[in-house]
Amino acid sequence: MAPRTIDELASAFAQEPGALLLAGGTDVGLLVTKQLRELPTILYIGGIGELHALRSSATGLRIGAAVSLTRAWGALVEAFPPLAEIAQRFGSPPVRNSGTLCGNLANGSPIGDATPVLMALGAELELRRGAEVRRVPLERFYLGYQRKDLQAGEFIVSVLVPPPRTDEWVGAYKLSKRFDQDISAVCAAFAVRVADGRIVSARLAFGGMAAVVARAARTERALIGAAWSEASIVRASACLAEDFTPLSDLRASSAFRLQSARNLLRRFYVEQTQPGVATRTFHALAAAVPSA
Ligand SMILES: Cc1cc2nc3c(=O)[nH]c(=O)nc-3n(C[C@H](O)[C@H](O)[C@H](O)COP(=O)(O)OP(=O)(O)OC[C@H]3O[C@@H](n4cnc5c(N)ncnc54)[C@H](O)[C@@H]3O)c2cc1C
Repeated sequence: MAPRTIDELASAFAQEPGALLLAGGTDVGLLVTKQLRELPTILYIGGIGELHALRSSATGLRIGAAVSLTRAWGALVEAFPPLAEIAQRFGSPPVRNSGTLCGNLANGSPIGDATPVLMALGAELELRRGAEVRRVPLERFYLGYQRKDLQAGEFIVSVLVPPPRTDEWVGAYKLSKRFDQDISAVCAAFAVRVADGRIVSARLAFGGMAAVVARAARTERALIGAAWSEASIVRASACLAEDFTPLSDLRASSAFRLQSARNLLRRFYVEQTQPGVATRTFHALAAAVPSA
């Protein structure tokens, strides 16, 4: 089925809650080509004009469920320039042109790259079921491995991203074996505010460290109130071992994941205090690979 309006989608999904939503198909396609699964009724959302809307206003970005990754990352990088590298390293141009940002969030993979970024930025999802609309902070959407706060017949309408703050530093990092088109071993995103030399707010979100993408609550608590110094960052980053017990798999060992998560936080600090380090690293890496 290919409804033309959100109302039509809501009523079709309410009547057939076992249907599978299809956006860009870059995850759904693999259910067929890799898992050889028979799919149920498919509800394609790409024909709904309203879901292609991407709005930027004083209250932030509102990115509709059918907006491609290319457009969504474009708007995110404009608002938050430090996201440029992770945007470039998400899949490849064909994947970013077909896939959607909301599809990545809905898929709920513990190693999805957009999820930690949007969680650190404090994003919320706008959900709809029948006529009922509700909002859920992204950090509360993932209940456990492959379990989400999504009722039968409920779908994502858009993701809402608060506007950038002049007093907040943002960083995002993807660690993988290849620079382009690879699955993250660890993905981290940070949003930190500092006033009078002290950390007043810290949102640290990690992928690849647990069954779901999650914030590092204990590390955040250790940072808040501490001096913005390398010593406090290193001390607080030890708490990551209390926040996460990562798995060992073919991409990385548990010890590697924990050590690199700690190192990424330290790198974030170095980049903020020694401007130019990050840009130099990115340009050196980007120059080493053919452009897209
Ligand atoms: C070659 C390749 C490279 C990739 N590289 C990366 C990468 O670097 N980083 C990364 O994180 N991912 C990557 N992916 C995974 C994939 O591209 C992303 O997860 C993408 O964002 C999925 O979006 P989509 O629109 O294609 O989703 P779809 O495949 O259409 O759907 C994905 C899931 O979300 C559900 N869904 C879709 N829309 C909604 C909605 N509005 N409400 C509720 N549920 C919905 C679908 O039912 C399905 O379960 C890659 C995939 C491929 C094939």
